[in-house]
Amino acid sequence: MRDLSGGLEWLSLNWATVRQQWDLRQAIEGCARHGIPGIAPWREPLQVLGLAEAARLIRDHGLAVSGLCRAGMFPAADAAGRQAAIDEVRRATDEAAAIEAQCLVVVAGGMPAGSKDLALARQQVRDGLAAILPHARAAGVPLALEPLHPMYAADRCCISTLAQANDLCAELDPEGAGGLGVAIDVYHVFWDPELAREIARAGAASRILAFHVCDWLVPTRHLLLDRGMMGDGVIDLRRIRGLVEAAGYAGLIEVEIFSTDWWRRDPDEVLRIISGRYHTTV
Ligand code: ZN
Repeated sequence: MRDLSGGLEWLSLNWATVRQQWDLRQAIEGCARHGIPGIAPWREPLQVLGLAEAARLIRDHGLAVSGLCRAGMFPAADAAGRQAAIDEVRRATDEAAAIEAQCLVVVAGGMPAGSKDLALARQQVRDGLAAILPHARAAGVPLALEPLHPMYAADRCCISTLAQANDLCAELDPEGAGGLGVAIDVYHVFWDPELAREIARAGAASRILAFHVCDWLVPTRHLLLDRGMMGDGVIDLRRIRGLVEAAGYAGLIEVEIFSTDWWRRDPDEVLRIISGRYHTTV
């Protein structure tokens, strides 16, 4: 396992962690000020700042981009909607290429309004990924499928486990030609009894593209906006990081905390606490 007790060598900040306090420019400058070498922008603030200006700022501050969040949402009620989703992922892939993101984070999508057919939604995700994969390969931006906790299966992401994501990768990229992999976010997968096996499986195929950390609070008061700071909850972060690194992952460790509590704090204080917890808890 890597030793994180020294510097902040592998730390990356997901912009959403400070999204109520800082725009993307402020977050980039904040990372640089705090010695955090990585950032993961979201598309909306990226478009506000402008691709060229964002790329320049990121380059000038010497930051790596651990991923661009996010695109996907493939299922739709009709063919036009499904094509629009694919086109949107294509644009996101190009944006990711422009800022030299190490991957585009893909959130698959849930069931279209009125549908109860989860199997059909999953089929549409498969078909959408198959349609966009050649473009991602050509752009040099791998698609990182992020399984989300099953509580989001209906409306946000019908890929709920790392096993499902690995299965999709194996089906769509059987030769391991690249362009497709997984994002492992502890918040979404820590509960999974198959986690160790599936992390090893993803690593054996060189498909771990991103590693996201935060914590699971007990009790959790909101399905989306009550993630915890690392160390404040029940996730054995060091164990999961050990599994991910034993599987061959040597990339950035991205802190992604959606939390109305942390969004109320001074963002410089948030970054100081993140840096401290990176040393002591991650
Ligand atoms: Zn994540």
